[in-house]
Amino acid sequence: AVEGVSDARIAVMADRVKRRFIAIGSGKGGVGKSTLTANLAVALKRMGHKVGVVDADVYGPSQPTLLASEKAKPEAIDRTLQPVAGTLGIPMLSMGHLIAPGKALAWRGLKAAGALTELIEADWGDAETILIDLPPGTGDVQLTMIQKHRPDGAVIVSTPQDLALIDAARAGQLFETAGVPVIGLVENMSGYQCPHCGEFSDPFGQGGVESIAARLELPFLGRIPLTMDIRIASDAGNPPAAEDGATGAPFMAVAEKLAN
Ligand code: ADP
Repeated sequence: AVEGVSDARIAVMADRVKRRFIAIGSGKGGVGKSTLTANLAVALKRMGHKVGVVDADVYGPSQPTLLASEKAKPEAIDRTLQPVAGTLGIPMLSMGHLIAPGKALAWRGLKAAGALTELIEADWGDAETILIDLPPGTGDVQLTMIQKHRPDGAVIVSTPQDLALIDAARAGQLFETAGVPVIGLVENMSGYQCPHCGEFSDPFGQGGVESIAARLELPFLGRIPLTMDIRIASDAGNPPAAEDGATGAPFMAVAEKLAN
């Protein structure tokens, strides 16, 4: 034992050292940031990682739906929030658990920052990797997240569309400038296969995120296709990466890169 430091304190310190927070960000809303977060969480969990999820998306918290914990109400013990159990038992906390439905837009600035701190500093137990679903863009909540909570890394998700790419690059630069390493970029809604005729098409183009990653000298972590199955399963609280199969496979591939 270290002199003057209690065993309990040492345990807490050891715990801190092991835990890493990974922010999942995007330049724009609706590009699949929350869907990716939920699928990466279940994928990492299945790979044997102790994973947790913080839903910091004040403007549209969707993790309670994606990870099937809509009815859960987190308790506070000694003013510390206790995560609730989501899909596969993943510990999670969402802004959605703290605010009444339909009130999200009233939560701005300082109030949102305070709530964010409560989510991050909750009782995460033995969770080693905590994924943070950020709000889209580069506003107050993202800045608080970066400056005050210093995540260990960030993943940026974008569609291959030109406008989304510009915003994604901006989001990436925000993290890098603040000294938070961008672990890599993910291309979502990348290519679509018609369920009727089997023909492939690229509604938002393809390959755009990979080339932005190359230009910014950041790793490219993979592409997720646009499929009906991803939307239906994820939005029903059963992210496809929770099971074996082709639908969840692209998420498993990204999770493997994150784990290394
Ligand atoms: P964001 O968090 O970036 O706002 P969401 O994850 O909420 O975006 O996704 C927006 C919508 O698009 C959701 O209905 C989601 O199910 C759907 N979606 C996301 N990714 C895919 C995909 N790869 N294929 C099909 N639908 C998707």
